[in-house]
Amino acid sequence: MKYCVITLFPEMIENAFDQSITGRALGEGILSLDTISLRAFSQNSYGSVDDYTYGGGAGMLIQCEPVWLAYQEAVSRIENRIDEETDEFISVRSEKKTRVIYTSPGGRVFDEKYAEELSKEESLIILCGHYEGIDQRVLDRIVTDEISIGDYVLTGGELPALVIMDAVSRRIPGVLNNEDSAGSESFENGLLEYPQYTRPAEWRGVKVPEILLSGDHAKVETWRLTEAKIRTKKNRPELLEKWYSKRGIH
Ligand code: SAH
Repeated sequence: MKYCVITLFPEMIENAFDQSITGRALGEGILSLDTISLRAFSQNSYGSVDDYTYGGGAGMLIQCEPVWLAYQEAVSRIENRIDEETDEFISVRSEKKTRVIYTSPGGRVFDEKYAEELSKEESLIILCGHYEGIDQRVLDRIVTDEISIGDYVLTGGELPALVIMDAVSRRIPGVLNNEDSAGSESFENGLLEYPQYTRPAEWRGVKVPEILLSGDHAKVETWRLTEAKIRTKKNRPELLEKWYSKRGIH
């Protein structure tokens, strides 16, 4: 997977992504990361890329032209070309259109299924907003996926970009090794994950549930399913309802 992130804060993306599991995958060449600084495409001598919004209202908006030029740079960097007629870009290798994600609280809410879908792509361009956001005209021209990471507002799109990249990356074969393997994570089967324990078997007087030490795999599986249901009922009752109705239980 090739990520190309267009941002006002490239170091924020690079420093955070080049750590731990994703950092290792970068080193192994399973992932690649390129950042493009929006500021490099400023249209004035101050290096600014924002201006007041038409129609009034507080806050500044990122202008079209710096985003458009940064997008073209992204396209050339991931070895694609722009189709002159449609303005869409075509991958030279696969002839597949590369998706362009705009992080936005107004977007479709990100989840594990969406991460799985994006993990099948060869490359992704991610555009991070700042201030009040970005002029709609350039978004209409280039964005294929507007993604929100949840119903709250952040100061910029860098953390959402990292969240998306992290969730997508761990679905790509080879990114997780055995030790950090996916197993039966939360959301994988529609339930939250059961509680887990490691050594010591007794910590400050609190024991690990007996059944996990029994070596009886069938019993352990039953216990885990029950615990997953209990946790899901407590924290995400709507998921448990969905889980039951999928199985025809009401
Ligand atoms: N005026 C916008 C908020 C701008 S927040 C609105 O009301 O919808 C500034 C930038 O932070 C956005 O452009 C976006 O890139 C990013 N951002 C903030 N919250 C986000 C969220 N929940 N999900 C994804 N991106 C978000």
